[in-house]
Amino acid sequence: MILRAGLRLVDIHDDVVRTIVRYSRPGENDREAGGILIGSYRGVHIQIVECTTPLFRDRRSRMLFDRRDEGHQRAALERWRSSGRTLTFVGEWHTHPEARPSPSLIDRQTWKRVARKNHAGSTFFLIRGYDSWWAGLGDRNRVVQMAELW
Ligand SMILES: [Zn+2]
Repeated sequence: MILRAGLRLVDIHDDVVRTIVRYSRPGENDREAGGILIGSYRGVHIQIVECTTPLFRDRRSRMLFDRRDEGHQRAALERWRSSGRTLTFVGEWHTHPEARPSPSLIDRQTWKRVARKNHAGSTFFLIRGYDSWWAGLGDRNRVVQMAELW
């Protein structure tokens, strides 16, 4: 899947898309799921090649996914080391129990915090509903919605 905002592209590997979609089907998402996105910065673009999935210490409810488990960050650090510092944390994803998702107020507040802490580059934010996606690219104080190219 490729998304665009202005001249900037985010390319998400099919495996990652499939993994996230699995968590977003009705029935399977009575509780929200989520994780982080791992990939590389390529100039102004981002390529996403892996993601983490819900872990034991995460808080999951119908309206909230709170990424509490340290395993997500640990996974990013391990990939950073094992890839010769090319793969790193580039963003996060979570599911919504609705067909066409849009970010909640809490999402936007959380994203602002996450984007500010990410000094490596822009941060990519992805929400998966039953049928569609909401994607955004975050810098310091704002998140710009991205359009799906294919
Ligand atoms: Zn949300």
